[in-house]
Amino acid sequence: MLILSVVIFIAGLAIGSFLNVVALRYLKKQSVVLPSSHCPKCLTPLKFWDLIPLLSYLLLQGKCRYCKESISPVYPLVELISGVIFLWSYFIFGFSLQSLEFVVLGSFLIVLSIIDFKEFILPDKIVFYNLIAGIILKIGYLINGSNINILLYSLAGAFIGFLFFYIIFLLYPEGMGGGDVKLAFVLGLFVGFPLVFLWLFLSFFLGSIGGVLYLLTLKKRFREPLPFGPFLALSALITLSWGIYLINIYFSLIWRI
Ligand SMILES: [Zn+2]
Repeated sequence: MLILSVVIFIAGLAIGSFLNVVALRYLKKQSVVLPSSHCPKCLTPLKFWDLIPLLSYLLLQGKCRYCKESISPVYPLVELISGVIFLWSYFIFGFSLQSLEFVVLGSFLIVLSIIDFKEFILPDKIVFYNLIAGIILKIGYLINGSNINILLYSLAGAFIGFLFFYIIFLLYPEGMGGGDVKLAFVLGLFVGFPLVFLWLFLSFFLGSIGGVLYLLTLKKRFREPLPFGPFLALSALITLSWGIYLINIYFSLIWRI
């Protein structure tokens, strides 16, 4: 159990390292495959021991081996988050179609969140690939013996998520990007009906907490809009993991009043 957990965590770190590359190359409009990884400052191609997830950053104390330029802590942070998501998936779902769904979605959401933090957009192309992945996974559930209703519930979730965000987008276009509306369709598909309602609630709940913390910690002159995508993402992962449990708690509290 412990050894397996460590292996899964390391696999998550390695995937995180790849997700960093995908997001960075997207931001720089480069191909994902070429050119090989290099230091953005001195352009020295990096050897494989410079690219060991998390470990290289710690050993190099956050500086390029060749020119001593600081390496952004975003890289090891993303690797760590990816490792945690893989471990999280294993603890909740073991090895199953659900765990595959969870890590696939988690990986897309990591890339989307990095780009949203840096450029305040959720690129159509990546959201579209995420949608395709979602549809393939839902078909996988069908092949695996799930009832056809899973497709109906997923589609209902997608349309409810989309509609809700689209209405907010129409009422308050400054507060929300079109990318959020499209991502809401995809995440609604993943969580499905009726959990889509819990996901909507958590998104706005966590978004407000994040917004308040953000205003409290940052000085006014540094204030930039806070991207909403990462909150949609985190809420979707929580909903997939503990959605039914949370809804049961909610209703048991309601009965008591
Ligand atoms: Zn360098």
